[in-house]
Amino acid sequence: MPELRKDPITGRWVIIAIERAMRPSDFKTKEIVEEEPKAGPFSEGNESQTPPEILSYRTPGTAPNTPGWWVRVIPNKFPALKIEGDLNRRGIGMYDMMNGIGAHEVIIESPHPADSLENLSVKHVEDILWAFRDRFLDLRKDARLKYIIVFKNKGKEAGASLAHTHSQLIATPVVPKTAKEELEGSRRYYDYKERCVYCDMVAQEIGDKQRLVLENEGFVAFVPFASIVPFETWILPKQHSSDYAEIKRSEISYLADALQRTLKMLDTVIPNVPYNFYIHSAPLDNLRLPYYHWHIEIVPRLTQTAGFEWGTGLYINPMSPENAAKFLRKTEGK
Ligand code: ZN
Repeated sequence: MPELRKDPITGRWVIIAIERAMRPSDFKTKEIVEEEPKAGPFSEGNESQTPPEILSYRTPGTAPNTPGWWVRVIPNKFPALKIEGDLNRRGIGMYDMMNGIGAHEVIIESPHPADSLENLSVKHVEDILWAFRDRFLDLRKDARLKYIIVFKNKGKEAGASLAHTHSQLIATPVVPKTAKEELEGSRRYYDYKERCVYCDMVAQEIGDKQRLVLENEGFVAFVPFASIVPFETWILPKQHSSDYAEIKRSEISYLADALQRTLKMLDTVIPNVPYNFYIHSAPLDNLRLPYYHWHIEIVPRLTQTAGFEWGTGLYINPMSPENAAKFLRKTEGK
């Protein structure tokens, strides 16, 4: 029997087609032709090919927009939203609109084209995660902005246009729909139970172990009960916190460890797996929330979203979350 499972946060139902008992090898990823990675606009030495940097972590004494950096943040050359101008919110009859104010930045994660989040040192991954925090703290000074999302597209199928390892940040003048659904859902749960739904989930997944992927001192990774796609994995801080930028330098090593190990596990189960991940954090006008808990969602792109999903918002996941977690756990130490 297929199962319908309900996400306790958003109330979204998912069809888990467990009968198919799929194995990782059932998911075909495009074969990647191993060629010498070429230097491009994100490579060291080509700094003049990008807009001037906003932030970089670099060797002392080296000038901005020259070599010597290991993490570099630049404005997106083709931004979805722009920082200059007024919001000018207005109506056209019954329709609402405003100007496309916001920020769109690229976090270049390494100066070398052959690197990946999976093979960088943990210390380097810490710096990337710290750069996200630095950008959160800087952009939230702008009162026009209501929400910041950091996301990564890895692989063509996941929307990456350049192979050179990078992530992006978009700050928006509105709270996006998915964030709103999570905020409203977790608030309903809190009003009813007086507990954070994510804290409850962390406790249950650590206790249950069935869907657990890994755990360290500060963070836990698990496959959510109502995952929408095979091998979807969430990473959450064990301690309640609604605001990503609250993370301390002493905690970032645990996050870097949890993220990198999870990505390595995924890549071992399905080599060259295309994926998206994103950080969901509190909206900027309400950063400290007892009912919301920031987290990272990793969504491998192995299935296609087709008519049924588009038309209903109901997903069919052909891999049971318990099996997905088992396959991921088995890779450690291989
Ligand atoms: Zn919590």
